[in-house]
Amino acid sequence: MKASLTVLGSGTSMGVPTIGCDCAVCHSSDPHDRRTRPSVLVEYSGHIVLIDSTPDFREQAIRERIRKIDAVLYTHTHADHILGIDDLRPLSFRHKPNKLPLYASQEAADFIRNMFRYIFDADYKFGGLPQVELCAINGPLELFGATFEPIPVIHGEAEIYGFRFGSAAYLTDHSDIPEASLAKLQNLDVLFLDALRHKPHPTHSTVANSLQIVERLRPKRAFFTHICHDLPHEATNSSLPANVRLSYDGMKLEFEI
Ligand SMILES: [Zn+2]
Ligand SMILES: [Zn+2]
Ligand SMILES: [Zn+2]
Repeated sequence: MKASLTVLGSGTSMGVPTIGCDCAVCHSSDPHDRRTRPSVLVEYSGHIVLIDSTPDFREQAIRERIRKIDAVLYTHTHADHILGIDDLRPLSFRHKPNKLPLYASQEAADFIRNMFRYIFDADYKFGGLPQVELCAINGPLELFGATFEPIPVIHGEAEIYGFRFGSAAYLTDHSDIPEASLAKLQNLDVLFLDALRHKPHPTHSTVANSLQIVERLRPKRAFFTHICHDLPHEATNSSLPANVRLSYDGMKLEFEI
């Protein structure tokens, strides 16, 4: 079945421009150099699945005119991936009397429940809370006729999730990918990978490292995300192979799910 993917945000945890930074990319006039925090939207058969809800979710949702969301998947619980939960409110209200499901690993679900106690604490007396419920991911997830398979990746010292859905996969934060996970990323049309910058980082992939992953997995198209202000969009793209591009906020593509 046909699906579309929209890049809501392509930036690293601090976003680009970065607060207080005077570098050339942070002052660039190229709109592709403006990167909100990392998240994508997947649409198929009239359903919309969000991957991560960032601190920029409100701005992203208004920009892309998002009218509804049917489910949210979480890769992990770092602030740049979960802090938009409260801004799910207006979209969650459409689900009444049911709740908008938030899918995460058991560990991540426990963390979110604790961090956002005011949402999940049944004793809270005041209104206006996001109407959401946490659901633990135990293996491949069937959502509205498509399968979202969690792909374990190493992010510094933590094991977190990327997701494969049909002919596409989205891996947003990784410093290493285990062999068993690489085996689940064969025959892809679209592969998103973390490419923070050129300089090595303890919890993120670099451009050179992610190019090696592309060489190994040979997807038809690869897109880099979680990009910091070290990488100017046009100059970096012109240095990449033809089937590899930096993603950018608002980028849309089609694939089979
Ligand atoms: Zn991140
Ligand atoms: Zn900068
Ligand atoms: Zn992270």
